Amino acid sequence: MKKRSIILKIIFTLLSCSILVLALYFYSNTLEQKLNTETKTTLEEVSAQSTMLVQKELKGELDLLARLSDHIGSNQTFHIPTIIEQLSDILSHYSFKRMGIISADGVTYTTDHVQMNLSDRSYFQDGLNGKSCISDRLTDRSDFDHIIVFSTPIYIKNNIEGVLFATYSVDKLKQILSVSTFNGNGYSYIVQKNGDAVVDSNHKTSFQNLNNIYTALVISNKSNQSTVEQLKNDLAKKQSGYVRFVNDVPKYMYYTPLDIEDWYLLNIVPTNIIDSTIDLVMNLTYSLCVLLTLIFLFLIWYIIRIEKQKNKELTRILYVDEVTGGFSYTRFCIEAKKILVQTDQPAAFVTLDIDKFKLINDLYGYEEGNRTLCYMNDALERFLHNNELCARRVADRFVLLLFFQEREEITSRLEAFNEVIQNILLGNNEHYVLKLTMGIYVIQDYFDDIQMIQNCAVIAHSTIKNKHDQLYAFYDEVYREKMHQNKQLENQMEHAYIHHNFVAYYQPKYNTANTDLVGAEALIRWKKEDGSLISPGIFIPLAEDTGFICKLDKYIFKMVCYQQKKWIDQGIDPVPISVNVSRQLLYNPEFVAEYKQIIEELKLPIKYVQLEITESAVFDDMDAFLSIIENMHQLGFIVLMDDFGTGYSSLTMLKSIPIDILKLDKSFVNDYNDPRGEIIITSVIQLAQSLKIRITAEGVETKEQFEFLKALECDDIQGYYFAKPMPNYEFEKLL
Ligand code: C2E
Ligand code: CA
Ligand code: CA
Repeated sequence: MKKRSIILKIIFTLLSCSILVLALYFYSNTLEQKLNTETKTTLEEVSAQSTMLVQKELKGELDLLARLSDHIGSNQTFHIPTIIEQLSDILSHYSFKRMGIISADGVTYTTDHVQMNLSDRSYFQDGLNGKSCISDRLTDRSDFDHIIVFSTPIYIKNNIEGVLFATYSVDKLKQILSVSTFNGNGYSYIVQKNGDAVVDSNHKTSFQNLNNIYTALVISNKSNQSTVEQLKNDLAKKQSGYVRFVNDVPKYMYYTPLDIEDWYLLNIVPTNIIDSTIDLVMNLTYSLCVLLTLIFLFLIWYIIRIEKQKNKELTRILYVDEVTGGFSYTRFCIEAKKILVQTDQPAAFVTLDIDKFKLINDLYGYEEGNRTLCYMNDALERFLHNNELCARRVADRFVLLLFFQEREEITSRLEAFNEVIQNILLGNNEHYVLKLTMGIYVIQDYFDDIQMIQNCAVIAHSTIKNKHDQLYAFYDEVYREKMHQNKQLENQMEHAYIHHNFVAYYQPKYNTANTDLVGAEALIRWKKEDGSLISPGIFIPLAEDTGFICKLDKYIFKMVCYQQKKWIDQGIDPVPISVNVSRQLLYNPEFVAEYKQIIEELKLPIKYVQLEITESAVFDDMDAFLSIIENMHQLGFIVLMDDFGTGYSSLTMLKSIPIDILKLDKSFVNDYNDPRGEIIITSVIQLAQSLKIRITAEGVETKEQFEFLKALECDDIQGYYFAKPMPNYEFEKLL
């Protein structure tokens, strides 16, 4: 069981861990995907924004230039130095570096009056062909700055007389693009379809002095080759999209056409921007998981600890005797069973009592009583040999499991023990002699139930309880003797029945309030040939065992009926007489009808015979019990419940059993002067009164008991205080 529970715990833990790991894996994946999408969306948004700004700026500048060209063309005179003067005046209002005009014959005039020949520039040729355009990135021939140039033709009367141009520093575009994105980790380029840079970036992680994006990519990392392919393809098709590339670290690039020349805007962000966010979230998640796991483990540890403590406590309660600290009886039984199935050595079960133990409690108090029990237990533990056991059963009864070779060995050991144990100092160091009695059962079948084995020792023990000279008794002798006696008794009973040696004695019942004779109970007696009487205590248990009791019950019932009939015929007014119905007879369903028939045949009014059934029979079968009572009631019998209080019926059960008279057992009446007893009698009587059940107290022997019961308004009394059971002729006198 322990192994299984450990395996289960391990499986449970592994399963929990796997689930946790899977959940984390799933969680981080989802998180990464989500963040990825979010980053891409942001990248696209940033890109759209930048595209808009760049377009607005460049197209705006180109428009401006076109308007200026129109203005120049609308003047009739085309005197370039004058126009340059005018342009110089307005230049500071625009974001151009310089403006200028290249005359159709190739002479260059600039607002800053630098001498250079720009007639070889392609924008000049485009201009002469009537095309406005923005140049590729160029290098300023005066200061080697990176520039782009806006150009547009100047029409004078429909003839192109020159090209108006404006130089624009690439740094200006850089500034527009340098909006901080992704916490300063993002940056942008503008490139041409062929990969040539228009605007590079000063960002510290960008390609420094970028000339061509394709070459830069390939040079920075070989793995970028496929990226370049995709980029080239998409750029050729004017498509937007993503690529991943490596420049020191892996990065994302979002590219989108600018709708200006063949330019593209590239927005770039290192992938670890996402990773670092994931890392942060995951770290937090892991910490939370670790914390939760720790809390979880702590809880499991705590629960296990409490469970262990509880188990320990339970084991202690179950396995340790609370008074002696030695084995409890439960522990004894478990251990005994284990030992017995493993051995073939002769073994004996011994029960052991301290004679008149109650006296020690009464004389010296409970503490000394308990000390005596501990003393006994310690002595027994020392007395035991290997594999032998002892435990306290109840009160002062101990049980032992002993092993022997010869039977004499047990008796001599027990006698020696008796010698050693005898003297104990109690109270103020007074010598007290402990007297022991023991019952011994030599175990026959080691697989028998321990309770059954114990019963045999107890039976042996009970035979010497009040014999002061005997230390022990063996079960087998006792048993043989008892069997022999029983057999004899059985034969004699049969004989006595045939020869009418059983007679009924009558014990009167008196009304408590006015001491009137109100009834009697018929009690069986066995009259021997020599005139001596045998009390039912001796033969009834045997008759119950053999079933002979049913015959006896019917016999007494008949005898009582005849007696009552006889008294009536003689003119004597009899009182109701109750007869005992044994448990065996009770469950023999035809008997009630038989009884009724006897009464009818005699024409005896049914009120003169009542039936006593014993309380303990309730437990055999409650439903059957109730239906038998109902049957008795239907036929007109008054039903008495005998020996109330000796069984285990609770008071509340009285409510559900429809009896007419309750006979309070003698043991209750005996206890009337102890506080518990008093409470019990009082409540039983009160309950019975409230249920309208009459109460007869049995075994009332003293005036005090009588007075006590009278004060409680107990209805009737039966007991030696008024009269003992008597033969019919004496009872007749009372009638
Ligand atoms: P029980 O039915 O409880 O009968 C009452 C017993 O208490 C009788 O014992 C009676 O003599 C005794 N008793 C009455 N008053 C006192 C008292 O003040 N002090 C003491 N110490 N004893 C008192 P008895 O006659 O020896 O009968 C013993 C038991 O045998 C009966 O207990 C009953 O269970 C059984 N019994 C007797 N006759 C019959 C019978 O005909 N059929 C059956 N089935 N059982 C019977
Ligand atoms: Ca009775
Ligand atoms: Ca009784």
